[in-house]
Amino acid sequence: MVIVVDTVSATPLRPRHPEKVNRPDAFSPPKPNWIRVRAPTSRGYADTRRIVKENGLVTVCEEAGCPNIGECWDKKHATFMIMGDTCTRACAFCNVKTGMPGALDEHEPEHVAEATFKLGLAHIVITSVDRDDLADGGADHFAQTIRAIRARCPTTTIEILTPDFLRKDGALERVVAAKPDVFNHNLETVPSRYLSVRPGARYFHSIRLLQRVKEIDPALFTKSGIMVGLGEERHEILQVMDDLRSADVDFLTIGQYLQPTRKHHAVMRYVPPDEFAGYEKIAYTKGFLMVSASPLTRSSHHAGDDFAKLRAARAAISG
Ligand code: SF4
Repeated sequence: MVIVVDTVSATPLRPRHPEKVNRPDAFSPPKPNWIRVRAPTSRGYADTRRIVKENGLVTVCEEAGCPNIGECWDKKHATFMIMGDTCTRACAFCNVKTGMPGALDEHEPEHVAEATFKLGLAHIVITSVDRDDLADGGADHFAQTIRAIRARCPTTTIEILTPDFLRKDGALERVVAAKPDVFNHNLETVPSRYLSVRPGARYFHSIRLLQRVKEIDPALFTKSGIMVGLGEERHEILQVMDDLRSADVDFLTIGQYLQPTRKHHAVMRYVPPDEFAGYEKIAYTKGFLMVSASPLTRSSHHAGDDFAKLRAARAAISG
């Protein structure tokens, strides 16, 4: 018997993050007990997974390896990631695949709308990869997706979590014109950590983007978030809060950074729950309508319940 080993035609597996392959391993401290979550096993989780797969959709819940997936999917709360599974940026914290993405799927807006309908969602969160390769950064695709959901699910409220549309003139205006209910854009970290954590982005551009949203349409709710545990100082977090309030941002989220692989940025520190509670208190005193700060807070975690509270908070102050 002769065994032939084909070493020529076999396609080697492409690494998920080619730009990180040659980086030295970064080691994080062991996770504290307040970070642990249960493995997803429920019936609701299985149903959500089936609907996502049947519609050929990508979720940030899976791509980012979110620790809340068991809890969220059990309640059918999935966050769709549009415009493919490959991102043109290479942030040091993010587990989404990097590289050159493929062409846009023109039917994706309808598929997202259909899945939203099947999941019976009262509130949907849509995010995307960065698409620096597209002339409008994917703004039109975002707008089409919002319109498709409005047409299929008229009572569902829509929250979008967008990239920064850096150097994409007119992109932001197109997305805002489609009238999502909540416009979220995450700062991710404090300005001093941008170069090592979010090197393709610019802190003041992101602040200005959020401010522009409110200038164009003051009725929209704006939201932003940061992760802690990336080497930031407390006073820098307080400064970020002030910068976001200067941009009239309504809702702040603060969560613990978790390292997806050893090639990603190390966790510099696990922030204890009482410190998150302290940040939440300070943020409210600075004027945010809504604040969510805890180790497992993520932008889209409990987004529907939090949106109801956000609306109520605005209604209360406007009498
Ligand atoms: S927190 Fe957001 S990303 Fe994580 S599982 Fe829930 S919906 Fe998905």
